[in-house]
Amino acid sequence: MVDVIVIGAGHNGLIASIVLAKAGLDVLVIDHVTWPGGMAGYHVISGIEVPIGAYVLGLIPNDLMSELGIGIEQYKPEPIAVYVKGSELVRWWRSLEDRIREFNRWGLGDNLRAMWNKIMDFHRALRKYLYRLNPPSKEELLNDPVLSEFIRSKGWEFLSQYLPREFWDMFIFEPYLDQPAFMIGYYNPDTDWWFPAKNGEVGIQVFAHELYNAVLRAGAKVVLGLGVKKVIVDSGRVRGVLTDDGRRIEARAVLSTASPINTLINLVGKEYFDKSIVDRLMNVQLGGASRLVIVNNGPIKLRNELNNYRDSILQLPFGETVVHDNYLIVTGLPTRDELSEYVDIDWSVVKAFELITPSDYESMFRLAGGNLNHLPMTEEYMFSNRPIPGWGYSTPIKGLYLGGAGTWPGGQVTGVPGYNAARKILSDWSSLR
Ligand SMILES: Cc1cc2nc3c(=O)[nH]c(=O)nc-3n(C[C@H](O)[C@H](O)[C@H](O)COP(=O)(O)OP(=O)(O)OC[C@H]3O[C@@H](n4cnc5c(N)ncnc54)[C@H](O)[C@@H]3O)c2cc1C
Repeated sequence: MVDVIVIGAGHNGLIASIVLAKAGLDVLVIDHVTWPGGMAGYHVISGIEVPIGAYVLGLIPNDLMSELGIGIEQYKPEPIAVYVKGSELVRWWRSLEDRIREFNRWGLGDNLRAMWNKIMDFHRALRKYLYRLNPPSKEELLNDPVLSEFIRSKGWEFLSQYLPREFWDMFIFEPYLDQPAFMIGYYNPDTDWWFPAKNGEVGIQVFAHELYNAVLRAGAKVVLGLGVKKVIVDSGRVRGVLTDDGRRIEARAVLSTASPINTLINLVGKEYFDKSIVDRLMNVQLGGASRLVIVNNGPIKLRNELNNYRDSILQLPFGETVVHDNYLIVTGLPTRDELSEYVDIDWSVVKAFELITPSDYESMFRLAGGNLNHLPMTEEYMFSNRPIPGWGYSTPIKGLYLGGAGTWPGGQVTGVPGYNAARKILSDWSSLR
């Protein structure tokens, strides 16, 4: 018997287990993949640790990292990102003044300054609601003097006040344009995007290693390469889990950071929930990301001026692309010709080539639809509606909690869902013992 079983050693599961173990609870983290970090982890291709999913950070608050004792550096290339706009490059420099100068090439410097100030205001305002154990409702946020604008207006309405259409892709993915402008704030962090780094090593593996070490230091146990087959529920309360290899492990509480669809439908079972909840989860519009990886024998060469910005996040027409030493990753699915327009690939020196499709992600992480945010980041699943209206991090099953990307504030590497879910368990602990 342990105090808490955490399903999933993704960053949220690891962060939750640090908080719980530091509070003195006996914590066991289980994940069926063999690396720490889940989608913010890495796998080894041709001897190189390559990101499996996330490659840049920016949404994880600095104060949360300090509190957890995660001592990594934030490597920000200069420029941080380069956006290919037709035949031109738009560079996203580190300083606001440089960005304004860049946008003045199109006479848009003042507009950019006004928009960026609004986004900074958004983050200052959001901070008040981030660490809430009862996630804020849309109505509550509508009463906030700053956030209300980001909820009332659609993404396209917000952007069109400042910039012509051809710049919008720099700030938000096309499918979110019709969602509340909240998503524009969310995806444009005030710290900007950065690469985790330590002792000269750059890459998401640095973050995953640091988190994993912090979990072990806090005293939690981690088992990788072992799946959870079922969450055991008896008389309306959780009793533990049954693992893929048939072991029964008892616990006072179970925190699942797997997707809510996976957790509630597959691990617990439809029979425990109202039909409206099952329908809500089963009818989620699915969709996911693809990943292309190329590992070369020598450094990857980019074409023309782009080669000057090898370290930057490259926003290419087919998806974000990142080059590190001898490897290149694209979050997207370019054809060979599309890729060759920007990358000078000598196929005779390609050592490894990997393509991960949404259905690969689905089976790798037991992730319905391969959705990298576990649930859509659409109004129906935002704020206190994520994952089920009014649940927050709890469920109707006593002792069962949710704390992955499918809970407030949402997907990407923020660490906030895991942190809040752990604090919710601690606040309920006297009734769970
Ligand atoms: C291609 C791609 C690129 C991305 N790029 C970025 C980026 O650059 N920056 C960013 O911030 N975000 C990015 N993301 C999104 C980000 O990676 C995720 O939203 C985030 O990592 C989710 O974290 P999590 O801890 O909530 O869940 P996960 O990382 O999904 O962790 C949940 C874990 O639960 C495990 N699990 C599930 N079911 C079971 C079971 N039955 N038994 C045991 N274990 C189980 C899974 O194996 C998984 O490891 C990207 C994602 C993808 C796929």
